[in-house]
Amino acid sequence: MSWHVAKDDLRAYVRGELAPPALWSADTHLAACAPCRAVLAEVGDPVALDEGWERLDAELDAPRPGFVESLLVRLGVADHTARLLAATPVLRLSWLGALVAVLAMTIVATHSVRSAESPTLFLALAPLLPLAGVALSYGPVLDPTYEMAVVSPVHGFRLLMIRTLAVLPVGLGLNGLASLALPSYGLLAAAWLLPALALTALALALTPRLGPVAAPCVVGGAWVALLVVADQMASSGSTLAPFTAPGQGGAALVAGLASWLLYYVRDRFDFSNGSTGSAV
Ligand SMILES: [Zn+2]
Repeated sequence: MSWHVAKDDLRAYVRGELAPPALWSADTHLAACAPCRAVLAEVGDPVALDEGWERLDAELDAPRPGFVESLLVRLGVADHTARLLAATPVLRLSWLGALVAVLAMTIVATHSVRSAESPTLFLALAPLLPLAGVALSYGPVLDPTYEMAVVSPVHGFRLLMIRTLAVLPVGLGLNGLASLALPSYGLLAAAWLLPALALTALALALTPRLGPVAAPCVVGGAWVALLVVADQMASSGSTLAPFTAPGQGGAALVAGLASWLLYYVRDRFDFSNGSTGSAV
């Protein structure tokens, strides 16, 4: 290479004062010429350069609180709790959108089969949605922070409660709004609430024994099986047993017992790596 960038031009280049077209030829040349880059490093200010890199590093490493997290912190939630809540995958818009879509389709379906006396499809489905939400917010399936949660000093049960308290009201609230879309059924449209609480509490209580995936699956499956049996026993068009007064009492009883069991097994939520085994 016969031509090289003049040292004065390189100084101007470092200060950002080199004007085109000299700037363009310097740019192109520096990319291909190691000796000129060496001269450039000499004429540059190493302190300013190091400071620049440090600022860039800090900027890249700094955690960037999202909208939900900032909002929670502003509402007075402790920042580490806000981070855990914001990282709850179920609270993301995509999941909420799916939930709303399922509920909307159920309501449309319920309205279109007006022959039955109760909104059976809606009542059968509604308890499963909060259950799925809570289950997915804790297990390793969808949770990118699961490993962090397992190794973090946050008590497993505490984390579970934080997430449940974040997810459950969202699920229940959406169901409640859906109930309002079925005014002709009156209070019966809210008969999903106690089964929903019972299923969620039961799945959480069984999680230490069955695991975070199997527990909600077993409980959800049992709910579907119960409805199938109830459907066989009910005369056509009548309300299924779980949504009658005795059925609701049973659901309340299961919810109460499961909550007690959940509290009783609270120490067994610290899933260990197998060696320490706080779960024994
Ligand atoms: Zn050169």
